[in-house]
Amino acid sequence: MDLDKLKTIADVDVGGKLVLVRADLNVPVADGKVWDATRLERLLPGLKDLSARGARIVVISHFGRPKGSSDPELSLRRVAAKLGDLLGAPVQFVSDCVGEETEAAVAALKPGEIAVLENLRFYAGEENDDAEFAAKLARCGDIFVNDAFSAAHRAHASTVGLTRELPSYAGPLMIEEINALRSVLDNPTRPTAAVIGGAKVSSKIPVLKHLLSKVDKLIIGGGMANTFLLSHDVVIGKSLAEPDFVETAREIMAAAKDRGCAVVLPNDAVIAREFRAGTAHAVVPTLAVPADAMILDVGPKSVAHMKDVLKECKTLLWNGPLGAFEISPFGEGTFALAHEAAALTKAGALVSVAGGGDTVAALNAAGVTDDFTYVSTAGGAFLEWLEGRELPGIAALIGAQR
Ligand code: AMP
Repeated sequence: MDLDKLKTIADVDVGGKLVLVRADLNVPVADGKVWDATRLERLLPGLKDLSARGARIVVISHFGRPKGSSDPELSLRRVAAKLGDLLGAPVQFVSDCVGEETEAAVAALKPGEIAVLENLRFYAGEENDDAEFAAKLARCGDIFVNDAFSAAHRAHASTVGLTRELPSYAGPLMIEEINALRSVLDNPTRPTAAVIGGAKVSSKIPVLKHLLSKVDKLIIGGGMANTFLLSHDVVIGKSLAEPDFVETAREIMAAAKDRGCAVVLPNDAVIAREFRAGTAHAVVPTLAVPADAMILDVGPKSVAHMKDVLKECKTLLWNGPLGAFEISPFGEGTFALAHEAAALTKAGALVSVAGGGDTVAALNAAGVTDDFTYVSTAGGAFLEWLEGRELPGIAALIGAQR
């Protein structure tokens, strides 16, 4: 996959053309309200730019998992309204994503106007990358723009199928996400560090294996660090761990050594007997975890060491929290290291890129999201990129070459 061949919509004459934009409008909604609009906010500059250039914009997206049939709970109507509020411009909502009525509504758009079509996943053809469904979608556009990096790991009609039907380009947000990841993984300023945390090692084995060949320092925290401690025969009490992956942890440590990648594991821990906010807790060396206790966060000595490691580095990639950050006070380790990364970034000493589901929530909780160089809103796609995998949505854009 030659990313330099990825064509962007920036240089295309879109005036008067129907531009079908695959966006990711899959935002968290509760009680009928969008409670985190980050993904929508990130789309605004690209949509405003297309609108200013006279494009007639048709936004398509999935929302939740309706599994191929209509579900009013998973309508994009409310999200479209929120997008309009954020844009400060009317956004028309079209209550289907294919068919004659949809095509008529779209055909009536004037230059600069924006419509959002109903949830693509109301049709099974979306997730099956059905050719007929893609052809129907394509009737709503002259040009296809994929601006949904976070959906690019799925080979669906709206990410892959449409590239067979229409001249296809990457949108500005897609380009931004790819550039951020390339800046830390391809020719970064060295030394480089990766902070990898989260619950389980089993879900991040390919990420760890790929990164150890890319970075100079691999900082491991969170529940997954416990399996690494187990692999060193450390007693971890009742901590979350995966004994079946102890051998894998050993392999990862050995591969890192071969590659000259230093692995940093916690040497102290915040422990508790219960998984509950405000519960009694203590700091102990990782070599002295009582049999009836759980490790729920990295301890202050570990954080101090990890901060020193970051200070030596010029580039940082971060995925996953260092502890059970949602439950106070077990977020302190993650927050303290995040503050250090943010301060180094602000001082111009570090390029910091973070992403993947819980990471954004953890950095938001730390209040440092805006101080990182780039925080991706993508979950699965971000992780697959870290695994070194080719994302079908991006490969299809490059392959289309129209
Ligand atoms: P992941 O989705 O793999 O990035 O994992 C994120 C989850 O890991 C968060 O919900 C954290 O609460 C959890 N987590 C992190 N550290 C620990 C730990 N030491 N024990 C239990 N859960 C943890």
